[in-house]
Amino acid sequence: MKQQTLVMKFGGTSVGSVDALKQATQIIRDARDEFARMVVVTSAMSGVTDLLLKSASLAAQGKVDSLPQAESTLREKHFSAIDALVHDQQRCAEVKAEINALILSLVDLCKAIAVLGEASHRAMDAVASLGERMSIRLLAAAVQEAGIKAKAIEATEFIVTNAHYQNAHPDFRVTTEKTRAVLNPLMDEGIVPITTGFIGATPEGVTTTLGRGGSDYSAAIIGSVLPAEDVWIWTDVDGVMTTDPRIAPEAQTLPEISYGEIAELAYYGAKVLHPKTIRPVVEAGIGLRICNTFNPSHPGTRLIANGHANGHNGEPEKIIKAVTAIRKQRLVTIEGRGMLGVPGVAARAFGAVASTGTSVPLITQASSEQSICFAVPAEAGPFVLSALEKAFVHEIEDEDIDRVWSTSDVSIVTVVGAGMRHTVGVAGRVFSQLGNSGVNVLAIAQGSSEVSISLVVDNADTENAVKALHRLIIAD
Ligand code: ADP
Ligand code: ASP
Ligand code: MG
Repeated sequence: MKQQTLVMKFGGTSVGSVDALKQATQIIRDARDEFARMVVVTSAMSGVTDLLLKSASLAAQGKVDSLPQAESTLREKHFSAIDALVHDQQRCAEVKAEINALILSLVDLCKAIAVLGEASHRAMDAVASLGERMSIRLLAAAVQEAGIKAKAIEATEFIVTNAHYQNAHPDFRVTTEKTRAVLNPLMDEGIVPITTGFIGATPEGVTTTLGRGGSDYSAAIIGSVLPAEDVWIWTDVDGVMTTDPRIAPEAQTLPEISYGEIAELAYYGAKVLHPKTIRPVVEAGIGLRICNTFNPSHPGTRLIANGHANGHNGEPEKIIKAVTAIRKQRLVTIEGRGMLGVPGVAARAFGAVASTGTSVPLITQASSEQSICFAVPAEAGPFVLSALEKAFVHEIEDEDIDRVWSTSDVSIVTVVGAGMRHTVGVAGRVFSQLGNSGVNVLAIAQGSSEVSISLVVDNADTENAVKALHRLIIAD
């Protein structure tokens, strides 16, 4: 018997070429044998969102010379795929006209940005949304051409968010109502809705985005509100791996991973899944699978409830399962002997950081309370330092705080594994492995969920640290 509803999301590479689009179409066709109802969510073709945002940033500096080049790159990328995949003359002409109109609106938006001399977050979202608005039309045409009933539909019609442009948060209540009202009638008629990842709209209808890499989150939102039985994320690797295969080609797929583990991995830089994807699917109790568009017979990775993940090929669970890194961070330190025992220093420090709109991925505090040390994204470093100097101006004058300073660029390298919770000596093994590989550890923090340990290392040591810790996993 066919299962109920499936949401499938294709990432940028998975719709980034003629070959990829053919694979995606075949995957959609095959899934229809298993699931009675299906929604497809797609990212922009690979490279498109970067190109759009770069065009807008240049326009904000008054530079519009490269616009014609961007325009022709976008046209060439989409039109050559349409020519290869869509043979129905009328369909081909229609979809080209729609995509061309979107490209022309990029030109208009960039010219307006250049006149203003600045690009607001709202304007950046209007520009960034164009990639997905183009790719749904392309993919829908390719799928229709393959004889499957499909319709391109923009998620701005049903994902309703606040006006926090570039990082918008959905209103789940309204989104539930609208998503069902828009998508269910299509699915009732046997049509596959092909919708935009990454974007939504405010209640007034202004386009927003959910943050870079946010198409995974879109799939989770749609899956949880319908609700679907399963969400499948189609990407360009065989699921969640022991580390980024670009750093260590010998990385292995993890057949299963727990919610707690994937949450830490995603949060600490494993790009394979957007960190916000996890919560909606966990709360709705639906399945999540990550698989490879270019190797569809590989089972990929299944997310499972905490505490039941098996190791590779059913072997006993490994203690450290995966290692990941986030680059371009800075360590900020506030230090001074006068801080000892003074209540409220940490609260005021983090209040000052929050006032700059910066989030803090890692905190360590020396137990003597003579210093507070935490990481922030490198680009926020200067703002954070000046906010702290302002907040503690009196303590600095009185020399209760000696200095507030930050390092140059560092990386946070994180090892993840639920088995670490019950195992002594993991930190020791991690340290000796890094020591033996000549990597100096600048700071350390253990995740409060005890399934991760994060280490801060110099930017230049990142690859070396990841590779060394990965050898520990493979050898285990
Ligand atoms: P998509 O466009 O499909 O969303 P992304 O580029 O966002 O794809 O994410 C997939 C990439 O994530 C992979 O190509 C890989 O380089 C990277 N990656 C980082 N860490 C991991 C990991 N632990 N397992 C698998 N892939 C990882
Ligand atoms: N296209 C968007 C980005 O590049 C969203 C995504 O790919 O998930 O960030
Ligand atoms: Mg992604």
